[in-house]
Amino acid sequence: MTRKVTILGSTGSIGVNTLDVIRAHPDRFKVAALTAGKQVDRLAEQCIEFKPTIAVVSEAGDALHLEKLLLAKNIKTQVLYGPQALVTAVTDSGCDTVMAAIVGAAGLVPTLAAAKAGKRVLLANKEALVMSGNLFMQAMKAGGGELLPIDSEHNAIFQCLPNEFTTSSQSRLGVEELWLTASGGPFRNTPLDQLAAITPEQACAHPNWVMGRKISVDSATMMNKGLEVIEAFWLFGLPLEKIKVLIHPQSVVHSMVRYRDGSVLAQMGQPDMRTPIAYGLAWPERIEAGVAPLNLTQLASLNFSEPELARFPCLSLAFAAAKAGGTAPVALNAANEVAVAAFLDARLPYLQISTVVEKTLSAITQADADSLEGILSTDAQARKLAHEFIQGLKK
Ligand code: NAD
Ligand code: MG
Repeated sequence: MTRKVTILGSTGSIGVNTLDVIRAHPDRFKVAALTAGKQVDRLAEQCIEFKPTIAVVSEAGDALHLEKLLLAKNIKTQVLYGPQALVTAVTDSGCDTVMAAIVGAAGLVPTLAAAKAGKRVLLANKEALVMSGNLFMQAMKAGGGELLPIDSEHNAIFQCLPNEFTTSSQSRLGVEELWLTASGGPFRNTPLDQLAAITPEQACAHPNWVMGRKISVDSATMMNKGLEVIEAFWLFGLPLEKIKVLIHPQSVVHSMVRYRDGSVLAQMGQPDMRTPIAYGLAWPERIEAGVAPLNLTQLASLNFSEPELARFPCLSLAFAAAKAGGTAPVALNAANEVAVAAFLDARLPYLQISTVVEKTLSAITQADADSLEGILSTDAQARKLAHEFIQGLKK
């Protein structure tokens, strides 16, 4: 069977890695649709190589530009633009598989559409699940598709769980705890009094992984791990207190499952997203991913420790939002997106990312997160508050 794949966010780090795996297996995978925000030239190159049925960009002007570039090469791809076109790329491109790799809340609606339409959903866009956990898992169930986590930790846990694992079978199967590993990012050992002066370039220089700028900053603050705890809660249905975070600077053990009988199963590999991407694309088979073999004898050691909460206030904020439930994770995510964008734009100091998130969480009206309207309304409210706090901090 040839899988027909739509990639939401094909020009990003996950998108490019996905195309790299697809390129190596032309008999197995065809590209149905590709979407990007603003990187028209890169999207044009991808369309020329993979000839998707549909290509989507955010703005009308960029769509015209893309059309011209494709026409010049006689490529017949239909070019669309705007948020609704992202849904069209999922529902009308003839795809059976959707890689959800748009960064942030912008990916929520098309990812939900993929769930409802019964696609195989390869979920990289953790923010979508953090925002809509219950709704998204219900949509997956109703759609009858397959959900495969691409985030390396969740992909590792998925690999370490038995096939018959479900929320109701976890006790019978003896699953006690999930251990999410975290590198600790570039500032794991930086003296605390130097954190105030951190620049976007320093924050984006991750020691082990090459990723988009937003997730790189989230890794530095460890908000990324906080979002991943919430992601694991929805994906695997274990109580929050059974989801633990361990600092593991080498990023070789991608996560672990602890069982009742004393066994701990870990998934190991190079820190290269093509491994989980290839796993999700080909599951339950395994295919060549272009990843170098892991050489354990070259590793001096593997270390594990507890995260220092004083160094990573965003992690505590995420735990608090997860515990509060309802729309608190929506507000956490929205405030973080606004604060990280401001930091990347040199409008907010590094240490105030957590301040903005904390202030927004305290000010937001708590509600249930059981409708898309409610979720989007909290998202908008939290963004507005976060912008106001950033303005206020400047004065
Ligand atoms: P990235 O910034 O490199 O790429 C993001 C993609 O989304 C790009 O194609 C961009 O054009 C598109 N995009 C951004 N804003 C958009 C908008 N408003 N409308 C439409 N498209 C838009 O990000 P990334 O590092 O590839 O991460 C993508 C997602 O995968 C994130 O949710 C991230 O948390 C998750 N993830 C990434 C990695 C990694 O190694 N990069 C690992 C695990 C999870
Ligand atoms: Mg991860």
